[in-house]
Amino acid sequence: MTYCSELIVFTDLDGTLIDHHTYDFSPAAKAIGMLDRMSAGLVLASSKTAPEIYRLRAEIGCDAWPAIVENGAGVLPPLVAKTSQDTQYLAIRTVLDETPAELRGLFRGFGDVSTDELMAMTGLSKEGAVLAQSRSFSEPGLWSGTDTERDQFLTALAPHGVSAQQGGRFLTLSFGANKVDQMQKIVQSYNPRYTVALGDAPNDIEMLEYADIGIIVANPTRPPLPSLRTEGAGRIIRTKQAGPAGWNLAVCDILERLEREQDLNNG
Ligand SMILES: [Mg+2]
Repeated sequence: MTYCSELIVFTDLDGTLIDHHTYDFSPAAKAIGMLDRMSAGLVLASSKTAPEIYRLRAEIGCDAWPAIVENGAGVLPPLVAKTSQDTQYLAIRTVLDETPAELRGLFRGFGDVSTDELMAMTGLSKEGAVLAQSRSFSEPGLWSGTDTERDQFLTALAPHGVSAQQGGRFLTLSFGANKVDQMQKIVQSYNPRYTVALGDAPNDIEMLEYADIGIIVANPTRPPLPSLRTEGAGRIIRTKQAGPAGWNLAVCDILERLEREQDLNNG
């Protein structure tokens, strides 16, 4: 079935819609309310797992929309708490265990450790660690070998279709899909007239470039994103304020602009 929505907003969470330290999204309440009243879509896109995002999605009030989880390795369908499948995760774990033992031992995945050990590895609370271990599509872990050994490890995984993204701390294994792949699928099935994407980090860049308008939310804790491919065409906006406050102003501005354009078209 093909749905049609006028506008869908795709957004990163950490450092974008929610404050990096406090997890607060209330400064964006006005813009979220405006989107809701116009029945626009709000699709969360994050490294979080399905059960982690499920709760936030309900709090934010956009649980009628799918959410992009595990950095784009999968999607949580609307309204449900769990993905229908964890077979990809099990397949990754199987491929992992088939790599040569001397390489396998250098990777400590979230599925290799107890919840207490994961709390120590990540600084998460017990509850947070349990949710982070409820994975369906990807396996993050700590790499303790050399760069050469890591290349050998990735070479052993590659024939099975498993690839890796190196984040700040974790090496994350998946079957390769990223945030923009899932965004494209959602755009195809909902067929919106207009798309907006918001993000603050390098792994949001493709999503920002794919949207009609990409909004780079300022993040004073990291270097600013480089000039993007679509920036010269006026399709990228950079907020001055960080996190949800910047999100709020930018989305309100866009909605007012769209309303003016619509008035012009109708008048
Ligand atoms: Mg972020």
